[in-house]
Amino acid sequence: MEEDQDVTTQVLDTVRRFVAREVVPVASRLEHANEYPCDLVERMKELGLFGATIPVEYGGLGLGYSTYSQIVEELCRGWMSLSGVLNTHLMFAYVLNAHGTAEQKQRYLPPMARGEHRAALCLTEPHAGSDTQAIRTTARRDGDHYVVNGAKMFITNARTATIYSLVVKTDPTASPPHRGMSLLAAEKDAPGVEIGRDIDKLGYKGIETCEVSFEDFRVPVASLVGGVEGRGLQQVLSGLEVGRINIASRAVGVAQAALEDAVRYAQERTAFGKPICEHQAIQLKLADMATKIEAARLLTRQAAAMKDRGERCDLEAGMAKLFASETCQEVSLEAMRVLGGYGYTKEFRVERYYRDAPLMIIGEGTNEIQRLVIARGLIQRYKI
Ligand SMILES: Cc1cc2nc3c(=O)[nH]c(=O)nc-3n(C[C@H](O)[C@H](O)[C@H](O)COP(=O)(O)OP(=O)(O)OC[C@H]3O[C@@H](n4cnc5c(N)ncnc54)[C@H](O)[C@@H]3O)c2cc1C
Repeated sequence: MEEDQDVTTQVLDTVRRFVAREVVPVASRLEHANEYPCDLVERMKELGLFGATIPVEYGGLGLGYSTYSQIVEELCRGWMSLSGVLNTHLMFAYVLNAHGTAEQKQRYLPPMARGEHRAALCLTEPHAGSDTQAIRTTARRDGDHYVVNGAKMFITNARTATIYSLVVKTDPTASPPHRGMSLLAAEKDAPGVEIGRDIDKLGYKGIETCEVSFEDFRVPVASLVGGVEGRGLQQVLSGLEVGRINIASRAVGVAQAALEDAVRYAQERTAFGKPICEHQAIQLKLADMATKIEAARLLTRQAAAMKDRGERCDLEAGMAKLFASETCQEVSLEAMRVLGGYGYTKEFRVERYYRDAPLMIIGEGTNEIQRLVIARGLIQRYKI
């Protein structure tokens, strides 16, 4: 994707300022109150972030995934939840742009770029997360509509989104099962959609993650992405590469914030007559933290650059997601050690990073699944 460098620099500067001035001062309060960040989301709309990677012809900023990765990193230095508002939205924008019909792109991408239409991904079900082909939600054809029945689990942005990227079985008997899976661009404000309880989470607070059930929910046939049945899994998986770049970038951002807080604290806190940053044990920690974050950042940028060149990057995005998320978990715990007892209190941000980090290990495919994806890619690449 061709990207205007002036726009890129301007957007990144603006996002950095937004995070420093508007996100950092309120993030801990909103997070502890588990409060939806309405004002921040409105500002993100004004900054054009809901259209960050949507092509200019549809009213987006037309940024590449390398820049998007940096935007996500910056947002997460302030508060990880903010990137969750964008993630499934821009994953669906990618899927629509890559696989949607001309009519679907015209209908959805411009309002999505303005943040007026906001997308959520409805893939996971109560009994099927990693095993995506085991989903049971069905879409039965009835004239010019599909009639959807089933239940979805862990749906982020379930309430605030207006449109669901809804993965269904149009042929539940197909073998292999993915041949019977299809993707619907389903506008949610219609009878038959019930948004259940908000799931109470360890971290990732402020934005909602809910159960959603569908009972005789009627979706026009024109909403079938690409107009072809049986391609749903393939379409969603192509979007998951974008999702994994987002998760890896989030992990780098949270880890970077943890490092910065630890380096600052280590210069302020004294023990045994000198700042703790002058004790070698602390220096070793800081050096390892920074080195791993830099490695995670480079892996993430590499996956994003491949996506920008239009190359398949499931292996690289998987490696980036795996390494960055494990690094983030490790670094947030190390930061807590550097802050000692204060790191364990809610008066410092480190406890939030520590609670947010595990989501990156689980979301967009667990790290066990990432390892399987990476191994499959390796065997293909080095086939004898
Ligand atoms: C806060 C949050 C937000 C989320 N948001 C969304 C969303 O917006 N949309 C959406 O569709 N989903 C969402 N998810 C769901 C998420 O993608 C799944 O939780 C994740 O894919 C794992 O699925 P599962 O929870 O069913 O675990 P399971 O698939 O039941 O896995 C349980 C354990 O078994 C392991 N495992 C499973 N299969 C294998 C295997 N073949 N080999 C080795 N190990 C295996 C897993 O790695 C894991 O350790 C969200 C989840 C959370 C926690």
